[in-house]
Amino acid sequence: MSRTFGEIVCWAQRRLGGAGIEGARQEARWLVAGLMDIEPGELITRDRDPAPAGFAAKLDPLLRRRAVGEPLAYLTGNTEFYGRIFKTDARALIPRDDSECVVELAFELMPAGETLGVADLGTGSGCLLVSLLTGHPWTRGTGVDLSAEALSLARENAALNSVEAKADFFAGSWADWTGWGEVDLIISNPPYIASDIIETLDRDVRDYEPRLALDGGPDGLDAYREIIVLGAEKMKPGAWLVLEIGYDQKAAVTALLEAAGWTGILHRRDLGGNDRAVAAQRPVG
Ligand code: GLN
Repeated sequence: MSRTFGEIVCWAQRRLGGAGIEGARQEARWLVAGLMDIEPGELITRDRDPAPAGFAAKLDPLLRRRAVGEPLAYLTGNTEFYGRIFKTDARALIPRDDSECVVELAFELMPAGETLGVADLGTGSGCLLVSLLTGHPWTRGTGVDLSAEALSLARENAALNSVEAKADFFAGSWADWTGWGEVDLIISNPPYIASDIIETLDRDVRDYEPRLALDGGPDGLDAYREIIVLGAEKMKPGAWLVLEIGYDQKAAVTALLEAAGWTGILHRRDLGGNDRAVAAQRPVG
């Protein structure tokens, strides 16, 4: 006799719980709903329906992958960020809720109705760039990334969120990108984890997410040193730089900005209460 969806959720929960996954019930529901192509909230109304033949066999490899630590968002293939859906896979870092305050800080600095040029350095999944383009419809933007794979995902996310006509992409180092002097605002969530700390991160992050998106060098600040100095040399007067930072990097990044002559420095915290966003402006005069 075939099992119901509700029974399959319980089975999946036991498998994930047995593998030490916290929140096993919720993750089981997300995976089952994902395979059914419905919202997890709709599962309640389908709990007693018999699952089609082969459903558990399709779920089984996903449970195996999750049990060894592959992030849930790589298995479901998408996640929500700033109210929109983004495709997620091993090509780029998974969008984090923590980064939403970085987008919000950028919006504070982008006057409504004005045509602006923006760029996202180390765009990865494209979540910051796409959020700026969708939330501020007068904007055009460039996503810069060293990883051609990440850029292919960012392009797909721009298309998924209907901003592909306003987005372009540069594959290469931000040092080689020639658009610095043309944009009004640069946003970036660069790699900022100190190299030694990477081995201590959760295995989901450490073993599955791209190192290139995480490793900020010996003290975690390498990317900030480059971006802050290049921006100071090349960005136009009045242009803004908006950076995501690690919870303990506020003082260090602020000092780098001040040393390079940036002004009007602003800080914001994420929903967890950690310092997470810094903005600074090129002097106008
Ligand atoms: N916030 C991410 C993490 O701690 C790191 C992101 C980054 O290095 N830019 O997993």
